[in-house]
Amino acid sequence: MGREIHMFFLPFLAHGHLIPTVDMAKLFASRGVKTTIVTTPVNASFFSNTIERSKESGIHIGVEVIKFPAVEVGLPEGCETADLIPNLLDVELMSKFWKAVLMLQEPFEKLLQECKPDCMVAGVFFPWATDVANKFGIPRLVFHGTSYFSLCATECMRLYEPHKKVQSDSEPFVVPNLPGDIEFTKNQLPDSVKQEDENEISKMMKAAREAELKSYGVVVNSFYELEATYADYYRNVLGKKAWHVGPVSLSNRTTIDKLERGKKSAIDEHDCLKWLDSKESNSVLYICFGSMASFTSAQLKEIAMALEVSEVQFIWVVRKPKNNEEDEDWLPEGFEKRMEGKGLIIRGWAPQVLILDHEAVGGFVSHCGWNSTLEGVCAGVPMVTWPIFAEQFYNEKLVTQVLKIGVAVGVQKWARLVGDFVEREAIEKAVKEIMKSDRAEAMRNRAKALAEEAKKAVEKGGSSNSDLDALIEEISLHSQ
Ligand code: UDP
Repeated sequence: MGREIHMFFLPFLAHGHLIPTVDMAKLFASRGVKTTIVTTPVNASFFSNTIERSKESGIHIGVEVIKFPAVEVGLPEGCETADLIPNLLDVELMSKFWKAVLMLQEPFEKLLQECKPDCMVAGVFFPWATDVANKFGIPRLVFHGTSYFSLCATECMRLYEPHKKVQSDSEPFVVPNLPGDIEFTKNQLPDSVKQEDENEISKMMKAAREAELKSYGVVVNSFYELEATYADYYRNVLGKKAWHVGPVSLSNRTTIDKLERGKKSAIDEHDCLKWLDSKESNSVLYICFGSMASFTSAQLKEIAMALEVSEVQFIWVVRKPKNNEEDEDWLPEGFEKRMEGKGLIIRGWAPQVLILDHEAVGGFVSHCGWNSTLEGVCAGVPMVTWPIFAEQFYNEKLVTQVLKIGVAVGVQKWARLVGDFVEREAIEKAVKEIMKSDRAEAMRNRAKALAEEAKKAVEKGGSSNSDLDALIEEISLHSQ
């Protein structure tokens, strides 16, 4: 390898992007690559402890902070991460957030001018990043933060538009040319795909796609053995240049590293681990829907009732903070009392990887955000898939139809951020199926085998480890 290379990382401003990007930066830094994460003050605060700890262990990651013009665009001060937008369904607020994201281009260019990195990995939702990289003559790598499977499915959907050939929104169709005969309905597709007319989001998606076409390649948080058919399809059939370097969450080996990912945990880790230690292997169900999605009180109540009748032990993460007792209208009367010792509700942020990796956890109800899905795979647990929005319905198909390590709760419809309603009977049925049925064991065995493959992939000589080497080598040659 030639001289030391310097890489810039510009994660999109949402936990689902920030968390894996920080893990990724650690991976590059541990190979002797000079790394700098560029982000805004609030976002930098989420991972400052991680950077400090890495430094103590001899891995240096630089951080450059650029101002996020929240107030200038009419957002509340400090509203710098997507989940902090006061109402995510408010189109006007969302447009303001996008406007501020576009305004980061100028300070970012200044930094490039000063630091002269050799390459940059920028989140897909910075459509200006490729042009900026080209201006400075450096490669731009795109980070989508999702699976090969969903990247392939998205592209097939765009190329062949099968949803335009069905009679109704609920009529199933097979995604043309995508290996595996994967069935979808129009109802399950993201708005940006279905939308016939342009809006702010579809325009942004289009710009992001065009920027990707001009970019140097794509970095994927996945591993070859998990989705080999789709990694090959993406690279060989769709002709994309891509490297997989995951699962990046496996770089967190200690309790503190697993604990401090994203926001501050709403539960003391000792209490959480003590609770889990008191349970038998594979006896606890973990339920979490990521950092963005939210449910109505009626849906939360439905989940609570399903948990009670299914008689499983559980840790349930609910994003609603506890303000006062009246706010707890989403819980059935006396629920927590009855569930004492049996179920734990975490209100706010949970130390997800720490929980999933505990041997007491035997199942995961997930919204199929890609990070969560992959973290579930690494923990070797079967899943109940409950997709809500973004590309989560694609990830659901990977889990249930391709990997066969989960069962679908049966969500019919893509809905921006607030889940489509699911009845308690369906929840109970799916939960019992992954925790107690005859099928559960087979799913668990497959999940455990994949977890082993995941570990091997990031070890020396493993598929992701080698791809990371190849990528560093290529950038290093490019920069000479
Ligand atoms: N996460 C966590 N605690 C929470 C909620 C989320 O640690 O209470 C982490 C989770 O481990 C994952 C990320 O936040 O790494 C969420 O990313 P994902 O792609 O699963 O979903 P998104 O939040 O983007 O919908």
